[in-house]
Amino acid sequence: MTIGENQSLAPGAIDVHAHVLMPDIYAQTQAHSLFTLPMEGAAISDAAREQGRQRAESVCRAMADMSERLTLMDKMGVGVQVLSASLVHQSSLYASPRESLALERRSNDQMAQMVARDPRRFVGIGGVPLHAPDLAVEELRRCMGELGLRGVGISTQAGEMEIGDARLRPFWEAAEDLGALVYIHPAGNHDVRFRKHFLWNSIGQSFEEAMAIASLMYEGVLESFLKLRICMSHGGGYMPYYMGRIERNYLEKPSTRVHMKRSPAEYLKMLWYDSCVYDSEAMRVLVGKVGIDRVVLGTDYPVGDRKPHEFIASCGFDAGETQQILRTNAEGLLAQG
Ligand SMILES: [Zn+2]
Repeated sequence: MTIGENQSLAPGAIDVHAHVLMPDIYAQTQAHSLFTLPMEGAAISDAAREQGRQRAESVCRAMADMSERLTLMDKMGVGVQVLSASLVHQSSLYASPRESLALERRSNDQMAQMVARDPRRFVGIGGVPLHAPDLAVEELRRCMGELGLRGVGISTQAGEMEIGDARLRPFWEAAEDLGALVYIHPAGNHDVRFRKHFLWNSIGQSFEEAMAIASLMYEGVLESFLKLRICMSHGGGYMPYYMGRIERNYLEKPSTRVHMKRSPAEYLKMLWYDSCVYDSEAMRVLVGKVGIDRVVLGTDYPVGDRKPHEFIASCGFDAGETQQILRTNAEGLLAQG
């Protein structure tokens, strides 16, 4: 299968949720990452803190390592990884626009080198300073042109802006024009309410994804740019599983529909979703809401599911549907033009 002019992909499953980390970038961004916060709670023992520290270190090592990755991909039955930098670790949105652009450019250059190590096994997506829309468009174009990347990964906010903000229209317009994949993965919610018990990860990430989808729907991005290729991480967070309330608001509160010409349920079907939900029942609901053609494999490598084939098999889809999730839907999502 050819996704770009020159890039043919290896056979097997395509994993769209696979992280990398660039140590030199992380050295600059880590002070702003949720992973470097001390664990809160007096009841946490020293041993648990040490265990947490060691795990964080080993995850960073695994994200930066490209050799062990291929061995693990073979073990997991993954033919191709779509690589994205972990935004929880190396989001640059805290920085000034110029500084953020410089960090993203360095990171994107390294991403292109990682893909070049084995372009049959790796597809790369880059990063942009989304809080500076003009610079984000410039770097998106460089990713898609000069660097041969397939799109960009963004978080669920752009500084103070929600991602449907009118000031970000030039970014969405360029992403549509270029046919870029936009993979939305939260950099993490820094609200203190989510600090204890890693709630920012268990609850907060899913909340962020629901907010991102809502912003794209309500602010009219999905209505204005019908050909966008947006893929949501973690099965779209809470949104696909709680559409009843969203639909009710749409019907009962006409004032909320200023930028929408169709129902939220219809917009929901315009996005793609990865399978990283850890629950076969949730997967069946997701497919019921968005369609079998909109769900792609996502393992959250290296932290997530190491047996993705077993998980998809446990969901009760037939052989054709399983193949769509494991491979063919992602081929369509990644195809040029
Ligand atoms: Zn992830």
